[in-house]
Amino acid sequence: MGVIVKRKGMLLIISGPSGTGKGTLVKKLMESDPSISFSCSATTRAPRPGEIDGVHYHFIDDTAYDCLLSEDAFLEHATVHGHRYGTLKREVEEQLASGKNVLLDIDPQGAINVMNHVCDYVSVFILPPSFSALRVRLHTRNTDDPVEIERRLRNARREVLNIGKYHYAVVNDDLELAFSQLQSIVNAEKQRTTRFCPTILED
Ligand code: ADP
Ligand code: 5GP
Repeated sequence: MGVIVKRKGMLLIISGPSGTGKGTLVKKLMESDPSISFSCSATTRAPRPGEIDGVHYHFIDDTAYDCLLSEDAFLEHATVHGHRYGTLKREVEEQLASGKNVLLDIDPQGAINVMNHVCDYVSVFILPPSFSALRVRLHTRNTDDPVEIERRLRNARREVLNIGKYHYAVVNDDLELAFSQLQSIVNAEKQRTTRFCPTILED
């Protein structure tokens, strides 16, 4: 008699204010865990140097985005810092069906939207050590002007009030500690009995 254990994929939502280090942590997680697939979102923002279409995002124009909206192609969508972003249902559903763990790196509006519409997910909120540290990170990253940075900091103060809607929180102060906490969450969640579909084979 043998046992074949197939696994169901997990939907992992990583969210939090801009500049808390989501992208940094997600990159480390993807490099360390081949069971996780990144859900490549569609966006109307322009690619930054080094970003690849179809890898970091599907970079599309407003017309194509409206077309996807009209086809109900998005699991969730939101306007974030002046640009439109959407999680494609097909990216998520196809990968979950093949047993992959699918990671969404999305803003808090999108995360709450998914949490309100999907039953089975794991959500992690990434917190900065302080608002002053967040301000320093946003300035150091050098991707936004000072007015935009102040807007993101105001949004951050509102976003952290919703922390109780998430399953887990990780404070990203020391990067290695935060990463190991994130890995612990992911590893434990992968072992839930609900993710296993054992099949007993008769001899
Ligand atoms: P997000 O994706 O949440 O907007 P990023 O991953 O782009 O944030 O990180 C914002 C900035 O903070 C980047 O310059 C990144 O290198 C830096 N950063 C990330 N984690 C830490 C950390 N633990 N300590 C100091 N700086 C960090
Ligand atoms: P960036 O343009 O810096 O890559 O991302 C800006 C913000 O948009 C980040 O907070 C990121 O998590 C969020 N984001 C990326 N893709 C999506 C998406 O598909 N939906 C939502 N709601 N937010 C997204």
